[in-house]
Amino acid sequence: MSAPRRRLPVVDQGIGSLRSDGSRIDLQQADVSGRYHTARKAVFVLLMAVYLVLPWVQVKGHPAVFLDLAARSFYLFGQTFNAQDVWLMFFLLTGVGFSLVVLTTLLGRVWCGWACPQTVYLDGIFRPIERLIGGNREARLRRAAGPWSVDRVVRGGLTHGLYLLVAFLLAHVFVSYFVSLPALYAMMRAAPAAHPEVFVFTFVATGLLYFNFAHFREQLCLVVCPYGRLQAALTDDDSMVVGYDALRGEPRGKVARGAEAETEKKGDCVDCRRCVVVCPTGIDIRNGLQLDCIGCTACIDACDEVMDKLHRPRGLIRYDSLRGLEGKPRKVLRPRLALYAALGLAGLIALTLALRTSEPFEANLIRLRGAPFTLEEGAVRNAFTLHIVNKRNERVRYRITAETPRGVSAVIPLAEVSLDPLGTLNAPVFLSTPRAGFVHDFEVPIHIRGLENTDQRTVRAPFLGPSQGAP
Ligand code: SF4
Ligand code: SF4
Repeated sequence: MSAPRRRLPVVDQGIGSLRSDGSRIDLQQADVSGRYHTARKAVFVLLMAVYLVLPWVQVKGHPAVFLDLAARSFYLFGQTFNAQDVWLMFFLLTGVGFSLVVLTTLLGRVWCGWACPQTVYLDGIFRPIERLIGGNREARLRRAAGPWSVDRVVRGGLTHGLYLLVAFLLAHVFVSYFVSLPALYAMMRAAPAAHPEVFVFTFVATGLLYFNFAHFREQLCLVVCPYGRLQAALTDDDSMVVGYDALRGEPRGKVARGAEAETEKKGDCVDCRRCVVVCPTGIDIRNGLQLDCIGCTACIDACDEVMDKLHRPRGLIRYDSLRGLEGKPRKVLRPRLALYAALGLAGLIALTLALRTSEPFEANLIRLRGAPFTLEEGAVRNAFTLHIVNKRNERVRYRITAETPRGVSAVIPLAEVSLDPLGTLNAPVFLSTPRAGFVHDFEVPIHIRGLENTDQRTVRAPFLGPSQGAP
Protein backbone atom coordinates (compact mmCIF):
# COMPACT_ATOMS: atom_id res chain seq x y z
CA MET A 1 0.00 0.00 0.00
CA SER A 2 1.43 3.36 -0.97
CA ALA A 3 1.87 5.98 1.72
CA PRO A 4 -0.92 8.60 1.82
CA ARG A 5 0.00 11.75 -0.11
CA ARG A 6 1.00 14.60 2.17
CA ARG A 7 -1.52 17.43 1.94
CA LEU A 8 -0.31 20.89 1.08
CA PRO A 9 -0.40 23.00 4.23
CA VAL A 10 -2.62 25.62 2.62
CA VAL A 11 -4.60 27.37 5.33
CA ASP A 12 -7.84 29.03 4.28
CA GLN A 13 -8.97 30.19 7.66
CA GLY A 14 -11.08 33.12 6.57
CA ILE A 15 -10.09 36.38 5.05
CA GLY A 16 -7.69 38.32 7.27
CA SER A 17 -9.25 41.64 6.33
CA LEU A 18 -12.81 40.64 7.28
CA ARG A 19 -14.37 40.22 10.70
CA SER A 20 -16.32 37.06 11.48
CA ASP A 21 -19.57 38.96 10.83
CA GLY A 22 -18.33 39.76 7.30
CA SER A 23 -17.65 43.45 7.90
CA ARG A 24 -14.44 44.89 6.48
CA ILE A 25 -11.44 45.71 8.62
CA ASP A 26 -9.85 48.93 7.40
CA LEU A 27 -6.30 47.61 7.26
CA GLN A 28 -3.58 50.13 7.99
CA GLN A 29 -0.29 48.68 6.83
CA ALA A 30 2.80 49.60 8.85
CA ASP A 31 5.81 51.03 7.04
CA VAL A 32 8.56 48.63 6.14
CA SER A 33 11.99 48.95 4.61
CA GLY A 34 14.56 46.44 3.52
CA ARG A 35 16.16 44.81 0.48
CA TYR A 36 12.92 43.46 -1.01
CA HIS A 37 11.14 46.76 -0.43
CA THR A 38 13.90 48.59 -2.32
CA ALA A 39 13.95 46.05 -5.15
CA ARG A 40 10.16 46.15 -5.53
CA LYS A 41 10.17 49.95 -5.64
CA ALA A 42 12.69 49.82 -8.50
CA VAL A 43 10.54 47.28 -10.37
CA PHE A 44 7.41 49.40 -9.82
CA VAL A 45 9.09 52.54 -11.18
CA LEU A 46 10.24 50.61 -14.25
CA LEU A 47 6.80 49.08 -14.92
CA MET A 48 4.99 52.38 -14.41
CA ALA A 49 7.43 54.10 -16.76
CA VAL A 50 6.78 51.45 -19.41
CA TYR A 51 3.01 51.87 -19.00
CA LEU A 52 3.19 55.66 -19.24
CA VAL A 53 5.65 55.77 -22.10
CA LEU A 54 4.33 53.07 -24.45
CA PRO A 55 1.57 55.22 -26.01
CA TRP A 56 4.24 57.83 -26.89
CA VAL A 57 6.76 55.43 -28.45
CA GLN A 58 6.29 55.19 -32.20
CA VAL A 59 7.23 52.01 -34.08
CA LYS A 60 6.77 52.17 -37.87
CA GLY A 61 4.51 55.19 -37.57
CA HIS A 62 2.18 53.88 -34.84
CA PRO A 63 2.30 53.68 -31.03
CA ALA A 64 4.19 50.58 -29.85
CA VAL A 65 1.01 49.11 -28.34
CA PHE A 66 -2.21 50.54 -29.71
CA LEU A 67 -5.68 49.06 -30.13
CA ASP A 68 -7.24 51.49 -32.59
CA LEU A 69 -10.93 51.00 -31.86
CA ALA A 70 -12.08 53.41 -34.56
CA ALA A 71 -10.13 51.56 -37.29
CA ARG A 72 -10.55 48.12 -35.68
CA SER A 73 -6.81 47.55 -35.85
CA PHE A 74 -4.18 46.52 -33.36
CA TYR A 75 -0.56 47.64 -33.53
CA LEU A 76 2.03 45.73 -31.53
CA PHE A 77 5.67 46.80 -31.82
CA GLY A 78 5.49 47.36 -35.56
CA GLN A 79 3.16 44.45 -36.35
CA THR A 80 -0.32 45.33 -37.61
CA PHE A 81 -3.39 43.18 -37.00
CA ASN A 82 -6.96 43.58 -38.07
CA ALA A 83 -10.22 41.78 -37.27
CA GLN A 84 -9.23 38.79 -39.44
CA ASP A 85 -6.22 38.16 -37.19
CA VAL A 86 -8.24 37.57 -34.03
CA TRP A 87 -7.39 33.85 -34.23
CA LEU A 88 -3.78 34.75 -33.36
CA MET A 89 -5.06 35.79 -29.93
CA PHE A 90 -5.58 32.11 -29.13
CA PHE A 91 -1.85 31.40 -29.46
CA LEU A 92 -0.93 34.64 -27.72
CA LEU A 93 -3.17 33.85 -24.75
CA THR A 94 -2.04 30.21 -24.65
CA GLY A 95 1.62 31.21 -24.70
CA VAL A 96 1.32 34.03 -22.16
CA GLY A 97 -1.14 32.09 -19.96
CA PHE A 98 1.04 29.01 -19.67
CA SER A 99 4.16 31.14 -19.17
CA LEU A 100 2.42 32.65 -16.14
CA VAL A 101 1.50 29.15 -14.96
CA VAL A 102 5.17 28.08 -15.25
CA LEU A 103 6.22 31.19 -13.33
CA THR A 104 3.68 30.43 -10.58
CA THR A 105 4.75 26.79 -10.33
CA LEU A 106 8.37 27.86 -10.01
CA LEU A 107 8.09 31.08 -8.00
CA GLY A 108 4.61 31.14 -6.46
CA ARG A 109 2.76 34.46 -6.59
CA VAL A 110 5.70 36.47 -7.85
CA TRP A 111 3.40 38.11 -10.41
CA CYS A 112 1.00 39.31 -7.68
CA GLY A 113 3.72 40.69 -5.44
CA TRP A 114 5.95 42.29 -8.06
CA ALA A 115 4.22 43.01 -11.34
CA CYS A 116 0.41 43.00 -11.10
CA PRO A 117 -0.90 46.53 -11.87
CA GLN A 118 -3.01 46.35 -8.69
CA THR A 119 0.13 45.93 -6.57
CA VAL A 120 2.28 48.25 -8.66
CA TYR A 121 -0.06 51.25 -8.38
CA LEU A 122 -1.30 50.55 -4.85
CA ASP A 123 2.18 50.14 -3.37
CA GLY A 124 3.91 52.39 -5.87
CA ILE A 125 1.63 55.46 -5.74
CA PHE A 126 -1.48 55.27 -3.55
CA ARG A 127 0.02 53.94 -0.30
CA PRO A 128 2.95 56.39 -0.48
CA ILE A 129 0.41 59.24 -0.84
CA GLU A 130 -1.44 57.90 2.20
CA ARG A 131 1.79 57.82 4.23
CA LEU A 132 2.97 61.20 3.01
CA ILE A 133 -0.18 62.99 4.10
CA GLY A 134 -1.55 60.76 6.85
CA GLY A 135 1.73 59.89 8.57
CA ASN A 136 2.73 56.47 9.83
CA ARG A 137 0.36 53.64 10.78
CA GLU A 138 -0.01 54.73 14.40
CA ALA A 139 -0.85 58.32 13.42
CA ARG A 140 -3.42 57.16 10.87
CA LEU A 141 -5.05 54.74 13.32
CA ARG A 142 -5.17 57.39 16.04
CA ARG A 143 -6.72 59.92 13.68
CA ALA A 144 -9.26 57.43 12.37
CA ALA A 145 -10.32 56.52 15.92
CA GLY A 146 -10.55 60.16 17.04
CA PRO A 147 -13.24 62.79 16.48
CA TRP A 148 -13.66 64.69 13.22
CA SER A 149 -11.21 67.56 13.53
CA VAL A 150 -9.95 70.17 11.06
CA ASP A 151 -6.71 68.21 10.80
CA ARG A 152 -8.56 65.00 9.95
CA VAL A 153 -10.79 66.65 7.37
CA VAL A 154 -7.92 68.51 5.66
CA ARG A 155 -5.63 65.47 5.52
CA GLY A 156 -8.46 63.21 4.39
CA GLY A 157 -9.55 65.69 1.72
CA LEU A 158 -6.01 66.15 0.45
CA THR A 159 -5.35 62.41 0.35
CA HIS A 160 -8.55 61.61 -1.54
CA GLY A 161 -8.11 64.62 -3.82
CA LEU A 162 -4.70 63.27 -4.84
CA TYR A 163 -6.14 59.77 -5.23
CA LEU A 164 -8.73 61.19 -7.63
CA LEU A 165 -6.12 63.12 -9.57
CA VAL A 166 -3.92 60.02 -10.01
CA ALA A 167 -6.97 57.92 -10.96
CA PHE A 168 -7.92 60.58 -13.53
CA LEU A 169 -4.42 60.56 -15.04
CA LEU A 170 -4.20 56.75 -15.10
CA ALA A 171 -7.60 56.55 -16.79
CA HIS A 172 -6.42 58.95 -19.50
CA VAL A 173 -3.23 56.95 -20.06
CA PHE A 174 -5.39 53.83 -20.30
CA VAL A 175 -7.63 55.48 -22.90
CA SER A 176 -4.56 56.47 -24.93
CA TYR A 177 -4.01 52.76 -25.64
CA PHE A 178 -7.30 52.85 -27.60
CA VAL A 179 -7.52 56.41 -28.91
CA SER A 180 -4.50 58.06 -30.54
CA LEU A 181 -2.76 60.75 -28.48
CA PRO A 182 -3.59 63.64 -30.87
CA ALA A 183 -7.24 62.52 -30.90
CA LEU A 184 -7.28 62.23 -27.11
CA TYR A 185 -5.74 65.67 -26.73
CA ALA A 186 -8.36 67.13 -29.07
CA MET A 187 -11.12 65.40 -27.10
CA MET A 188 -9.80 66.79 -23.81
CA ARG A 189 -10.09 70.30 -25.24
CA ALA A 190 -13.54 69.77 -26.72
CA ALA A 191 -16.90 69.59 -24.92
CA PRO A 192 -17.91 66.12 -23.59
CA ALA A 193 -20.91 66.13 -25.95
CA ALA A 194 -18.51 65.99 -28.91
CA HIS A 195 -17.23 62.53 -27.86
CA PRO A 196 -19.78 61.11 -25.38
CA GLU A 197 -18.60 57.46 -25.51
CA VAL A 198 -14.97 58.24 -24.70
CA PHE A 199 -16.03 60.79 -22.07
CA VAL A 200 -18.29 58.29 -20.29
CA PHE A 201 -15.64 55.56 -20.52
CA THR A 202 -12.93 57.80 -19.04
CA PHE A 203 -15.31 59.08 -16.35
CA VAL A 204 -16.27 55.53 -15.32
CA ALA A 205 -12.64 54.31 -15.47
CA THR A 206 -11.57 57.21 -13.21
CA GLY A 207 -14.34 56.33 -10.74
CA LEU A 208 -13.47 52.63 -10.74
CA LEU A 209 -9.74 53.28 -10.31
CA TYR A 210 -10.42 55.69 -7.46
CA PHE A 211 -12.80 53.26 -5.74
CA ASN A 212 -10.40 50.36 -6.16
CA PHE A 213 -7.23 52.09 -4.97
CA ALA A 214 -8.81 54.27 -2.28
CA HIS A 215 -11.26 51.77 -0.76
CA PHE A 216 -11.41 48.28 -2.27
CA ARG A 217 -7.66 47.62 -2.27
CA GLU A 218 -6.70 44.12 -1.05
CA GLN A 219 -10.29 42.92 -1.56
CA LEU A 220 -9.67 42.87 -5.31
CA CYS A 221 -6.94 40.24 -4.79
CA LEU A 222 -8.92 38.34 -2.18
CA VAL A 223 -12.44 38.16 -3.56
CA VAL A 224 -12.35 39.23 -7.22
CA CYS A 225 -9.13 38.00 -8.85
CA PRO A 226 -9.40 34.33 -9.94
CA TYR A 227 -5.64 33.95 -10.25
CA GLY A 228 -5.23 34.09 -6.48
CA ARG A 229 -7.57 31.11 -6.11
CA LEU A 230 -5.79 29.25 -8.91
CA GLN A 231 -2.43 29.41 -7.20
CA ALA A 232 -3.41 26.68 -4.74
CA ALA A 233 -3.71 24.32 -7.71
CA LEU A 234 -0.58 25.58 -9.47
CA THR A 235 1.90 25.57 -6.60
CA ASP A 236 3.30 22.49 -4.93
CA ASP A 237 5.76 21.68 -2.17
CA ASP A 238 8.66 22.74 -4.42
CA SER A 239 7.32 26.14 -5.53
CA MET A 240 9.09 29.13 -4.04
CA VAL A 241 6.75 30.97 -1.68
CA VAL A 242 7.03 33.49 1.10
CA GLY A 243 7.07 31.21 4.15
CA TYR A 244 7.80 31.08 7.85
CA ASP A 245 10.45 28.68 9.14
CA ALA A 246 8.47 27.08 11.96
CA LEU A 247 11.31 24.67 12.76
CA ARG A 248 13.50 27.63 13.63
CA GLY A 249 10.86 30.02 14.94
CA GLU A 250 8.86 27.81 17.31
CA PRO A 251 8.14 27.77 20.15
CA ARG A 252 7.65 31.49 19.71
CA GLY A 253 7.79 33.93 22.63
CA LYS A 254 9.41 37.04 24.05
CA VAL A 255 13.18 37.00 24.42
CA ALA A 256 13.93 35.10 27.63
CA ARG A 257 16.48 36.58 30.01
CA GLY A 258 18.61 35.28 32.90
CA ALA A 259 17.44 32.08 34.58
CA GLU A 260 14.37 31.94 32.36
CA ALA A 261 16.66 31.69 29.34
CA GLU A 262 18.45 28.74 30.91
CA THR A 263 15.31 26.74 31.58
CA GLU A 264 13.03 27.72 28.72
CA LYS A 265 14.22 26.89 25.20
CA LYS A 266 12.59 29.37 22.80
CA GLY A 267 12.57 29.54 19.03
CA ASP A 268 13.77 32.60 17.09
CA CYS A 269 10.30 34.15 16.71
CA VAL A 270 9.86 36.73 19.45
CA ASP A 271 6.16 37.10 18.64
CA CYS A 272 6.53 40.83 17.96
CA ARG A 273 3.83 40.66 15.23
CA ARG A 274 5.76 43.01 12.95
CA CYS A 275 5.16 40.53 10.13
CA VAL A 276 1.40 40.84 10.72
CA VAL A 277 1.12 44.63 10.89
CA VAL A 278 3.04 45.12 7.64
CA CYS A 279 0.90 42.59 5.76
CA PRO A 280 -1.38 44.30 3.20
CA THR A 281 -3.95 41.50 3.49
CA GLY A 282 -3.82 41.31 7.28
CA ILE A 283 -2.73 37.70 7.60
CA ASP A 284 -0.24 36.00 9.87
CA ILE A 285 2.26 34.15 7.69
CA ARG A 286 3.22 32.03 10.69
CA ASN A 287 -0.05 30.13 10.20
CA GLY A 288 1.37 28.57 7.01
CA LEU A 289 0.90 29.22 3.31
CA GLN A 290 -2.41 31.01 2.82
CA LEU A 291 -4.49 31.89 -0.19
CA ASP A 292 -4.55 35.50 0.99
CA CYS A 293 -0.77 35.86 0.75
CA ILE A 294 0.02 37.88 -2.37
CA GLY A 295 3.77 37.30 -2.02
CA CYS A 296 4.56 40.98 -1.42
CA THR A 297 7.62 40.13 0.76
CA ALA A 298 6.81 42.89 3.31
CA CYS A 299 6.87 40.31 6.13
CA ILE A 300 10.34 39.12 5.03
CA ASP A 301 11.77 42.63 5.33
CA ALA A 302 9.94 43.23 8.61
CA CYS A 303 11.21 40.04 10.20
CA ASP A 304 14.76 40.51 8.86
CA GLU A 305 14.77 43.91 10.56
CA VAL A 306 13.78 42.29 13.86
CA MET A 307 16.39 39.54 13.46
CA ASP A 308 19.07 42.15 12.72
CA LYS A 309 18.22 43.95 15.96
CA LEU A 310 18.41 40.69 17.89
CA HIS A 311 21.69 39.73 16.15
CA ARG A 312 20.11 36.56 14.84
CA PRO A 313 20.43 35.30 11.28
CA ARG A 314 17.96 36.69 8.76
CA GLY A 315 15.50 34.45 6.94
CA LEU A 316 13.07 33.34 9.63
CA ILE A 317 10.52 34.41 7.04
CA ARG A 318 11.98 33.96 3.58
CA TYR A 319 11.48 32.93 -0.02
CA ASP A 320 11.69 29.16 0.08
CA SER A 321 9.73 26.07 -0.90
CA LEU A 322 7.53 24.28 1.63
CA ARG A 323 10.00 21.41 1.37
CA GLY A 324 12.88 23.80 2.03
CA LEU A 325 11.11 25.24 5.06
CA GLU A 326 10.94 21.69 6.40
CA GLY A 327 14.70 21.38 5.97
CA LYS A 328 14.47 19.09 2.93
CA PRO A 329 16.09 19.60 -0.50
CA ARG A 330 13.92 21.29 -3.14
CA LYS A 331 13.25 19.66 -6.50
CA VAL A 332 13.34 22.27 -9.26
CA LEU A 333 12.52 20.03 -12.26
CA ARG A 334 9.12 18.36 -11.84
CA PRO A 335 6.80 16.68 -14.38
CA ARG A 336 4.08 19.34 -14.00
CA LEU A 337 6.61 22.09 -14.66
CA ALA A 338 7.80 20.35 -17.84
CA LEU A 339 4.18 19.94 -19.00
CA TYR A 340 3.25 23.60 -18.37
CA ALA A 341 6.48 24.78 -20.01
CA ALA A 342 5.86 22.60 -23.08
CA LEU A 343 2.32 23.96 -23.47
CA GLY A 344 3.47 27.56 -23.05
CA LEU A 345 6.32 27.07 -25.49
CA ALA A 346 4.00 25.44 -28.03
CA GLY A 347 1.70 28.48 -27.90
CA LEU A 348 4.57 30.97 -28.28
CA ILE A 349 6.19 28.98 -31.12
CA ALA A 350 2.85 28.73 -32.95
CA LEU A 351 2.37 32.49 -32.52
CA THR A 352 5.88 33.24 -33.82
CA LEU A 353 5.38 31.00 -36.85
CA ALA A 354 1.97 32.52 -37.55
CA LEU A 355 3.44 36.03 -37.37
CA ARG A 356 6.37 35.15 -39.61
CA THR A 357 4.17 33.60 -42.27
CA SER A 358 1.39 36.19 -42.12
CA GLU A 359 0.83 37.99 -45.44
CA PRO A 360 1.47 41.75 -45.81
CA PHE A 361 -1.91 42.06 -47.53
CA GLU A 362 -5.07 40.04 -47.84
CA ALA A 363 -6.91 39.22 -51.03
CA ASN A 364 -10.16 37.28 -51.22
CA LEU A 365 -12.33 36.70 -54.25
CA ILE A 366 -16.08 36.53 -53.72
CA ARG A 367 -18.63 35.66 -56.40
CA LEU A 368 -21.28 38.35 -56.83
CA ARG A 369 -24.67 37.54 -55.35
CA GLY A 370 -27.34 36.06 -57.60
CA ALA A 371 -26.92 33.50 -60.40
CA PRO A 372 -23.40 31.93 -60.56
CA PHE A 373 -23.18 32.90 -64.27
CA THR A 374 -25.23 34.69 -66.89
CA LEU A 375 -25.72 34.00 -70.60
CA GLU A 376 -25.72 37.18 -72.64
CA GLU A 377 -25.14 37.81 -76.32
CA GLY A 378 -23.73 34.35 -76.91
CA ALA A 379 -21.27 34.55 -74.00
CA VAL A 380 -21.03 33.01 -70.52
CA ARG A 381 -20.25 35.67 -67.94
CA ASN A 382 -19.03 35.38 -64.31
CA ALA A 383 -18.78 38.36 -61.98
CA PHE A 384 -16.63 38.59 -58.81
CA THR A 385 -15.53 41.07 -56.21
CA LEU A 386 -11.88 41.09 -55.19
CA HIS A 387 -11.54 42.22 -51.55
CA ILE A 388 -8.05 43.57 -50.75
CA VAL A 389 -6.72 44.70 -47.33
CA ASN A 390 -3.36 46.44 -47.09
CA LYS A 391 -1.80 45.29 -43.80
CA ARG A 392 1.36 47.31 -44.20
CA ASN A 393 1.98 50.51 -42.28
CA GLU A 394 2.45 52.46 -45.52
CA ARG A 395 0.40 53.30 -48.57
CA VAL A 396 0.75 50.64 -51.29
CA ARG A 397 -0.22 50.61 -54.99
CA TYR A 398 -1.43 47.28 -56.35
CA ARG A 399 -1.91 46.04 -59.90
CA ILE A 400 -4.59 43.41 -60.57
CA THR A 401 -4.25 41.19 -63.63
CA ALA A 402 -6.08 38.08 -64.81
CA GLU A 403 -4.20 35.17 -66.39
CA THR A 404 -6.93 34.27 -68.82
CA PRO A 405 -6.83 31.09 -70.93
CA ARG A 406 -7.32 31.44 -74.66
CA GLY A 407 -10.83 32.56 -75.55
CA VAL A 408 -11.53 34.02 -72.10
CA SER A 409 -11.60 37.77 -71.60
CA ALA A 410 -11.38 39.73 -68.37
CA VAL A 411 -12.55 43.22 -67.49
CA ILE A 412 -11.06 44.73 -64.31
CA PRO A 413 -12.20 48.38 -64.01
CA LEU A 414 -9.89 49.06 -61.03
CA ALA A 415 -6.80 47.35 -62.41
CA GLU A 416 -4.47 49.67 -60.49
CA VAL A 417 -5.40 50.79 -56.99
CA SER A 418 -3.73 52.56 -54.10
CA LEU A 419 -4.54 51.63 -50.51
CA ASP A 420 -3.78 53.43 -47.22
CA PRO A 421 -2.35 51.47 -44.28
CA LEU A 422 -5.04 48.95 -43.33
CA GLY A 423 -7.15 50.34 -46.15
CA THR A 424 -9.62 48.00 -47.87
CA LEU A 425 -11.04 47.92 -51.37
CA ASN A 426 -13.61 45.90 -53.30
CA ALA A 427 -12.54 45.65 -56.95
CA PRO A 428 -15.02 44.14 -59.46
CA VAL A 429 -13.70 41.44 -61.80
CA PHE A 430 -15.75 40.34 -64.85
CA LEU A 431 -14.85 37.23 -66.86
CA SER A 432 -16.51 35.98 -70.03
CA THR A 433 -16.05 33.34 -72.71
CA PRO A 434 -18.08 32.51 -75.85
CA ARG A 435 -20.93 30.10 -75.07
CA ALA A 436 -19.94 27.92 -78.04
CA GLY A 437 -16.42 27.40 -76.70
CA PHE A 438 -17.42 26.59 -73.09
CA VAL A 439 -16.95 22.87 -72.41
CA HIS A 440 -16.55 22.63 -68.61
CA ASP A 441 -15.86 24.74 -65.52
CA PHE A 442 -12.32 26.04 -65.13
CA GLU A 443 -10.28 28.42 -62.98
CA VAL A 444 -8.77 31.78 -63.86
CA PRO A 445 -5.76 32.91 -61.77
CA ILE A 446 -6.03 36.55 -60.66
CA HIS A 447 -2.70 38.11 -59.65
CA ILE A 448 -2.35 41.01 -57.26
CA ARG A 449 1.09 42.63 -57.08
CA GLY A 450 2.46 45.50 -55.06
CA LEU A 451 4.03 48.05 -57.42
CA GLU A 452 6.61 49.41 -54.97
CA ASN A 453 7.44 46.15 -53.20
CA THR A 454 7.57 42.41 -53.76
CA ASP A 455 4.13 41.67 -52.29
CA GLN A 456 2.20 39.33 -54.47
CA ARG A 457 -0.77 36.99 -54.17
CA THR A 458 -2.74 34.86 -56.58
CA VAL A 459 -6.37 33.98 -56.04
CA ARG A 460 -8.30 31.63 -58.32
CA ALA A 461 -11.64 32.56 -59.84
CA PRO A 462 -13.76 29.45 -60.42
CA PHE A 463 -15.43 30.07 -63.79
CA LEU A 464 -18.84 28.37 -63.97
CA GLY A 465 -21.11 27.85 -66.93
CA PRO A 466 -24.03 25.74 -68.17
CA SER A 467 -23.56 21.96 -68.02
CA GLN A 468 -23.06 20.18 -71.34
CA GLY A 469 -26.23 19.65 -73.32
CA ALA A 470 -27.93 22.60 -71.65
CA PRO A 471 -29.32 25.21 -74.10
S1 SF4 B 1 8.36 39.50 12.59
FE1 SF4 B 1 9.54 37.62 12.85
S2 SF4 B 1 9.93 37.58 15.02
FE2 SF4 B 1 8.29 39.04 14.76
S3 SF4 B 1 6.45 37.81 14.99
FE3 SF4 B 1 6.91 37.82 12.83
S4 SF4 B 1 8.10 35.97 12.54
FE4 SF4 B 1 8.11 36.38 14.73
S1 SF4 C 1 2.05 37.19 4.35
FE1 SF4 C 1 3.88 38.38 3.87
S2 SF4 C 1 4.19 38.13 1.69
FE2 SF4 C 1 2.13 37.41 2.14
S3 SF4 C 1 0.85 39.20 1.73
FE3 SF4 C 1 1.34 39.24 3.93
S4 SF4 C 1 3.18 40.48 4.08
FE4 SF4 C 1 2.95 39.96 1.92
